[in-house]
Amino acid sequence: MTTTLPTKFTPKKSLGQNFLINPHIIDRIIDAARISEKDLVLEIGPGTGNLTEKLAKKAGQVIAIEKDNRLIEPLREKFKNFKNIEIIEGDVLAKMPFVKQRASLQYKIVANIPYYITSNLFRKIFEEWPRPELVVLTIQKEVAQRITAKPPHMNLLALSVQYYAEPEVVVFISKNNFRPIPKVDSAIIRLNPKSEIRNPKKTEEIFKVIKGGFSEKRKQLASNLSKKLKLSKSAVLEAFKTAGIKELSRPENLSLNDWENLAEALFG
Ligand code: SAM
Repeated sequence: MTTTLPTKFTPKKSLGQNFLINPHIIDRIIDAARISEKDLVLEIGPGTGNLTEKLAKKAGQVIAIEKDNRLIEPLREKFKNFKNIEIIEGDVLAKMPFVKQRASLQYKIVANIPYYITSNLFRKIFEEWPRPELVVLTIQKEVAQRITAKPPHMNLLALSVQYYAEPEVVVFISKNNFRPIPKVDSAIIRLNPKSEIRNPKKTEEIFKVIKGGFSEKRKQLASNLSKKLKLSKSAVLEAFKTAGIKELSRPENLSLNDWENLAEALFG
């Protein structure tokens, strides 16, 4: 197990700096992303460059964006002989490198991300950035389980990811593979983005219904929806009937497809 950090480097908790020290786990990430030389890869948070190096040996090009300015020079020095690695300094949430100029490009996102950006990053990837071909991320184990949940364990995060992509857990990883050792275990997840183009108006309606449905956990779905959407209970129950949803359903029991049908029945 190895990692190369600049001397006197103190990892910052606020930047989610838990570095992967097990090369076998890095290989699992690379395998999960099925990298070939035609791939352009966006890496978020290269850190010590451990994953970056292996990515660059298989991919056509790697663009790595790192927020911690203390790591930029060591990364550039380490990769000075790699023609296919570009190190960019910045916050990936504010500065995605190729949004506008190359909107039709094909790229993969592969990263051991800082966990504090997980939800915001998903929003960026699926709602703002050009659609990636594939996304492979190391994230917190519990978050990976929530994202891949199915009825009767559905939740808001699962629906917001599954609306845009098919998620799968590749493997769970013990926290002992990171330095400093974090409090939680992790997982490698692979997200296969769906090819259909989402209609913004329909998307807004569906999420209005989903968020309304999950608004008060202990209440029944029909009551939540009636309150949040300002509709009579009978109108909501009529839409349930049209969408084939049982009257006493709870939000965790509904699949993405059920929510889509329900939004259609409510808003047409
Ligand atoms: N890739 C390395 C590895 O696997 O060992 C480092 C992973 S570490 C979990 C997360 C990295 O993301 C750190 O290097 C951290 O400085 C960087 N980072 C944190 N927030 C970031 C942000 N908003 N944008 C880009 N990089 C960020």
